[in-house]
Amino acid sequence: MSAFVDEYMAKLKAKNPGEPEFHQAAMEVAESLEVVIAKNPKYRDHKILERISEPERVIMFRVPWVDDKGEVQINRGFRIEMNSAIGPYKGGLRFHPTVYLGLLKFLAFEQVFKNSLTTLPMGGGKGGSDFDPKGKSDLEVMKFCQSFMTELCRHIGQFTDVPAGDIGVGGREIGFMFGQYKRVRNEFVGVLTGKGLNWGGSLIRPEATGYGAVYFAAEMLATRSETLEGKTCLVSGSGNVAQYAIEKILDLGGKPVTCSDSAGYIYDEAGIDREKLAFLLELKNVTRGRISEYADKFKGAVYTPVDKAKDFNPLWDHKAQCAFPSAVQNEINAKDAANLIENGVYVVSEGANMPTVPEGVNLFVEKGILYGPGKAANAGGVATSGLEMSQNSLRLSWTREEVDARLHGIMKAIHRQCVEAADAYGVKGNYVAGANIAGFLKVADSMLDQGLV
Ligand code: NAP
Repeated sequence: MSAFVDEYMAKLKAKNPGEPEFHQAAMEVAESLEVVIAKNPKYRDHKILERISEPERVIMFRVPWVDDKGEVQINRGFRIEMNSAIGPYKGGLRFHPTVYLGLLKFLAFEQVFKNSLTTLPMGGGKGGSDFDPKGKSDLEVMKFCQSFMTELCRHIGQFTDVPAGDIGVGGREIGFMFGQYKRVRNEFVGVLTGKGLNWGGSLIRPEATGYGAVYFAAEMLATRSETLEGKTCLVSGSGNVAQYAIEKILDLGGKPVTCSDSAGYIYDEAGIDREKLAFLLELKNVTRGRISEYADKFKGAVYTPVDKAKDFNPLWDHKAQCAFPSAVQNEINAKDAANLIENGVYVVSEGANMPTVPEGVNLFVEKGILYGPGKAANAGGVATSGLEMSQNSLRLSWTREEVDARLHGIMKAIHRQCVEAADAYGVKGNYVAGANIAGFLKVADSMLDQGLV
């Protein structure tokens, strides 16, 4: 580590103790930006990196609600308004028991660079709660969402902060929160994205993150004059991102063979085809069942439960050419990364946020594989949220084909920016550095223009 990164990280850790995910995300960015800051001392003089790592505002609040047994429950709600240099704060809400301030700060920090890469005018934010929607009735989820929004609605707005979904927040939760916002504020505006189609949502928004990650993989492959046709693909997760990554892999002629949830994963050597994908969507979005049921239904598939004693994830230990981690942060450890390479994987496109630990990232970069980091590869979701905001402002809806074409164009533009920034700063082919540098420059220059705010 250089003196510059050392000094920056020492201060960041002292100021933000007990937040390892935030430290991890900040460290990766600082390492990439060292060369930029060395060439452009104005960023150092104006302490741009230090300012980008300090949220503009953090909102933290109590969320009381009553469960179906009549018992009082208390959760904690958060919204991190990280950076508004290039537009209103934008980023998802996560409902999961592991949510705490540091996790959301890492996600909000990543979001700033990601949103900048989309080419759309969106600042960065993130929020959520330690509430776990799993196992809750629809009524409990509604009561929680209403209580959460009763407080959050004071702080967000179509021109200030526009949240979306993330882990544990899908169409159902967005609907309940939108309803409460409208009721309390007495205004029907595009304050959330991921809305239902009947009330301001955009076609392709549910599909966008997964589709985008696959488009990004296709762009990376195109640099070697290859396509996804005939390639075996490992996918983790079985939520929103994983489902539509699988669909787009099928569209482009690839063969998805795995998916997972927090209890285990399935390996289907014959491939997850459209009929099996339809079952998966019903299982996860309607009956809200477990991934083990896939193997009960389709006999050729093998289910492996999570084994905490293992120091690697067997999902990443199958022969394949491509991997689409689409579940959760740090789901690929150093051994998993080595296993992937050993098994022939040379394309990794991250649907999830920061799914690979730093040692794994370093290995991917060293080995020269086509590695698309989450902040570039999964930016299709927020980009299409940006397109939903545009449609809301215009008060019209674009067709499926139009939104998909715009998404595809944005993913190509993100890929191009990463390649060009990496080339310009002497790290050709390094998408991690390329994404961090390109995302940073637009925000940093806007911050300089706007003075010390
Ligand atoms: P989701 O619909 O809630 O699905 C999450 C999936 O990950 C589920 O299959 C879940 O299984 C699994 N999972 C959660 N925690 C896990 C753990 N500790 N170990 C293994 N599996 C785990 O969420 P999503 O929207 O698809 O988000 C997935 C990832 O993509 C997240 O990193 C998110 O930040 C990122 N992302 C999402 C979007 C978006 O538009 N939705 C955009 C950009 C990035 P269980 O059901 O068992 O919990």
